[in-house]
Amino acid sequence: MALLVRTSRDRTAAWRTALHQAAPDLDIRIWPECGDPAEITALLTWKAPPDLVQRFPNLRVIFSEGAGVDQFLSLDLPDTVSLVRIVDPALTGMMVEYGTWATLALHRRIPAYQRAQAAHEWRGLPHMLVRDRRVGVLGLGVLGRALLERLRLFGFDCAGWSRGAHALDGAMCFAGAEGLQPFLARTDILICLLPLTDETRGILSAAHFNVMPRGAALINCGRGGHLVEQDLLDALASGQLSHAILDVTTPEPLPVDHPFWDHPDVTITPHVASDTTPTSAAAQVIENLKCLQRGEVPVGLVDRQRGY
Ligand code: NDP
Repeated sequence: MALLVRTSRDRTAAWRTALHQAAPDLDIRIWPECGDPAEITALLTWKAPPDLVQRFPNLRVIFSEGAGVDQFLSLDLPDTVSLVRIVDPALTGMMVEYGTWATLALHRRIPAYQRAQAAHEWRGLPHMLVRDRRVGVLGLGVLGRALLERLRLFGFDCAGWSRGAHALDGAMCFAGAEGLQPFLARTDILICLLPLTDETRGILSAAHFNVMPRGAALINCGRGGHLVEQDLLDALASGQLSHAILDVTTPEPLPVDHPFWDHPDVTITPHVASDTTPTSAAAQVIENLKCLQRGEVPVGLVDRQRGY
């Protein structure tokens, strides 16, 4: 049994060290030095290599190097191969930092002050109390729930939307197709933390922006595929939306001539809201390998039918 690590070059050494510390006896191979492909039973990667299944006939598990797995969903993986994502406190903590920053920036109208600074204008804008600012998170998974828990501490009027019903302290919970419109209608700052699936692709669209209060703002930390770009540009032009903070785009990197770059009402960050830290996440990978060996369900096991 061997674990093959196929990550970006600048991370490989960190993964090798962290995995070795967590499991000194584990046979760790670093791509492209795979040795005998028949010995590879586990693969840690962000993107699958070509001909994955044919190349590694005894593969039993793929560990996504991140929390998202949309990049694996189009692979025709046999049922004998489990797909497992990272669920890690360091990754969650980073997303909470980013979501808190972005929400506070929009709440305190920082984009407007940045524009005023560029024009050398000293002009205060009206304040709104946190208790009157309605924040809504699309996706009540590991990341969405953690972010709402933090935002609640600031006193925001919090809500979340998910597929199945949830109950959260201090946040109104909406679920399913019938819950989406009422959720959006009460959301001034919308944060997308959904996985990208056939059901959620394009969810950030005109039909949904138009239900939101006029002048609402958007933070997309899910995937670029959640957003219909032209609908966002139209909503910003009409004033239906006031600003968008986008950490994810399609494609990535965002092309240099893309209209988002110079748009005064768009803030771009290069998919950095959160990241996997090998020193923290290695323990989960090793624990999950042990779980699978014992025939137990690993943390972060993906339901490939649902897509997350
Ligand atoms: P989880 O799998 O823990 O949670 C997913 C949530 O989305 C669940 O609450 C689920 O509902 C909900 N959901 C899924 N499909 C639907 C649907 N059709 N309708 C309504 N709700 C739906 O994921 P995480 O919280 O760990 O991560 C979320 C996403 O964040 C990742 O998939 C990834 O795309 C993105 N991400 C972005 C990063 C970045 O740096 N920008 C870093 C890490 C992740 P239910 O609870 O009912 O199942």
